[in-house]
This record gives sequence, structure tokens and C-alpha cells, in this order.
Amino acid sequence: MRAVPTFTGDIAAEEVGETLLHEHLFVRQPDVDRALPDDEWDADRAVHEAVVHLDALHDRGVRTVVDLTVPGLGRDVRLVTRVAKRTRMRLIAATGWYTHDALPAFFRLHGPGRLVDGPDPLVELFIRDLTRGIQGTGVRAGALKVVSDSDGVTADVRRVFAAAAVAHRETGAPVFTHSHSPSRGGLEQQEVLAEEGVALDRVVIGHAGDSGEVDYLRELAARGSFLGFDRFGMEHAAPDAQRIATLLALLEEGLAPQIVLSHDAAIYSRMTPPSWRRARSPQWTMHHLHERILPLLRTRGVGDDEIRTMMRDNPRRVLVGPENGGLR
Ligand SMILES: [Zn+2]
Repeated sequence: MRAVPTFTGDIAAEEVGETLLHEHLFVRQPDVDRALPDDEWDADRAVHEAVVHLDALHDRGVRTVVDLTVPGLGRDVRLVTRVAKRTRMRLIAATGWYTHDALPAFFRLHGPGRLVDGPDPLVELFIRDLTRGIQGTGVRAGALKVVSDSDGVTADVRRVFAAAAVAHRETGAPVFTHSHSPSRGGLEQQEVLAEEGVALDRVVIGHAGDSGEVDYLRELAARGSFLGFDRFGMEHAAPDAQRIATLLALLEEGLAPQIVLSHDAAIYSRMTPPSWRRARSPQWTMHHLHERILPLLRTRGVGDDEIRTMMRDNPRRVLVGPENGGLR
């Protein structure tokens, strides 16, 4: 069985415990940050805030948090390592490339058949991150992340999906997506990933829970993927009331074994900085599920067994793979 790499070493499947599969510590925009620094960013303070936040979450029973901050979102594995060394929470890193439409210009010139001809640097990056370590550290990624949004799968997005598929097939790492629910984008993601040879039961369709269309979600689930109800508290994407109603409908159909819960929250994000979050979405933190949503689900008849399935068993199956599968 696959061991699960964390920032502080590999753990066994049984150690994964209750897990938030889609969160962010520090989302940054390095070029923007250098050109137009953000007064709200202070690395030491951010590390301290992360440790306090994560330790309090550990007190509530969460044991593992997956940081899906990949390149394109300012991933900084050394900074997160400072947090990982001080918190009781286990953190898992991800690799991939975050773009809705086009890759940085570098990738236009580098790759098979391009001006600087050679293997695709995306493949090299993903496999190195998953097998040797990120940015020259020994921290290996435990997950792949791909993105498509309202533009659908553009040529560059397709290139990221294809590179992730190569890395998935070689390492067995799970694939997490950022999908656009209003256009039912998860279906196109599944088509492309399946064409590229990714096992759809190793895929989490992220932000599926932004959709209120049960038939769409049922179709995603029928193809074997996990559904990410992973933006609780992100009211500007979809209201929690809608997420809860949709989730209850799917649980009614017995789909708990394919649903995972998270927030897509961040300790710091240049996109929606702390002052904006305090004013506009104060409940959008990694504590929201435990503080409000899980208690509410219990009053609506959701059993502890279903909550355990979504919060503990499913994340373990996502991260480790099928019980008898191991490396594909
Ligand atoms: Zn995210």
C-alpha cells in the first residue's frame, strides 16, 4: 500500500485520520508581490497564524490538511515547512500548475517540438515533486492538481492535464481538480483525464459542491470520481444553504462514499486578502465545518458514520488509493 508523503515524513494509511483535502496555507502571486507588495503580508506573522489556526483545528480532531497550493499560486514549500515543523497538524503538499487558460511564456518555448526542443518541463516538474522532492527539499508532493474554469479545457490547460496524467500513471498519485460547476466543467475534465489514462476513481472533482444541480453531480459520481464539497464558507461562489441542500440530496441517494468535505480556505491569500475576508466572509476558515456545518448536518439527520466516511475514510482512499491497488 502507498505510503502518504507529508511535510514531515511519510505516514501509513491508518495515520491519515480526519482530513481536509482542499485548503491553502499561503496563496501568493510572486510577480505581483514583487512589483506591488501587499502591506498585509508578513511572512513571520503568517507562519505564526498558520500554526495557531492548525493546532486549534487539531484540537477539534482534524489530523491532516492537504495544501493544494501549486505553482501558479505562489507555492513556497520552505515557508510551509516552517509551519509543518511547529504544528501538530500533518500537512501534505501538492504539485501541478494553476492556470485557467494559458501557461507562462516559458512553456511556449520549451517542450517537445518547440524552439527549445526536449521533454515537457511540466512532466519533469511533476514527477520530480512526487518522487524526489519539491524545490530541492526532501518534501514530496502527495497529490496532483489541475485546473479548468469557464473557458473550458484550453490548449495549455490540456497540456497540464496530459502532464499530470503521465505523473499519475507513473506514481499512482491522486488527481485533484479545480472545476467550473456553472458550465458543468467536471464532465469535460473527466473526459480528458480518462483519455489521458487517469483512473477516474483516483480523481476528486474539486468545487463540484458549487453546483446545485443534482443530476450533474450524480453523473460525475457515476463515472467513479469523488465530489469535492470543498468550499464551505465561500459564499461568493455559492451559498452554504445550497451546498447543504445538494449534499443532503446526494447523501439520501447513498453517495457518502464519494463525497469529501473541505473549505478551500487560506491562512493568507493575495487574491482575497485578510482584510477583505474579515469584512466579506468572516466564517470562511478551516474551522467552519466543525463550528457550524457538521453540527447542522447532524440536526438534519446525517449520521456520525456518514460524517466519518466523508471526513476520514474517503480522504484516506483518495490519498492512498484502492485498498488492494498500491502503485498502478
Ligand atoms: Zn483551492
